[in-house]
Amino acid sequence: MTATRKQQVNEAVALRTYCKKRIQHIEQQRGSHKCTEEHQRRCTFMEPVEPIRDQMVPVRFIGTLRLNTFREEMRRGAEQDFHEPSRCRACLAKQADLAMNFFIRKKRNQLQAQLLQEKMDLHLYNKDTVCLLGEMLKDMPKPSDDPCEIWKRLLTTERQTSHNNNNK
Ligand SMILES: [Zn+2]
Repeated sequence: MTATRKQQVNEAVALRTYCKKRIQHIEQQRGSHKCTEEHQRRCTFMEPVEPIRDQMVPVRFIGTLRLNTFREEMRRGAEQDFHEPSRCRACLAKQADLAMNFFIRKKRNQLQAQLLQEKMDLHLYNKDTVCLLGEMLKDMPKPSDDPCEIWKRLLTTERQTSHNNNNK
């Protein structure tokens, strides 16, 4: 007889013993409930009903059940697939999402830096000393201009400036 077979027989015997005791107990209880007042006296001669907590389940049977439960849990654990992020669809999707976010953020920063540099360059080109001097000299009178005309322009400009300042 193999060990497994022996264990199965032991389990069966323990289970049968336990079930038999339970059935006896239930029958005794039912018998006692049926008693009416007139049979009360006769009932006192019956064997007292053993409380359920005193009817011990065989320790060996509990041990076997525990062992079986443990084995079953182990078997189920071994059957279950381990979580592999490299093969998990949800994990891969999340990873792709994060990579996309990172790419967009990096690209945006690069473009902003480039734009800022362009603006700074443009400012430097337009506001350098030569350009500013050129702009100033554009409005200056030329030596070939008529002096009367120059005076007239100067006074008009001065009047306009003071008028604007008074209105402010
Ligand atoms: Zn996953």
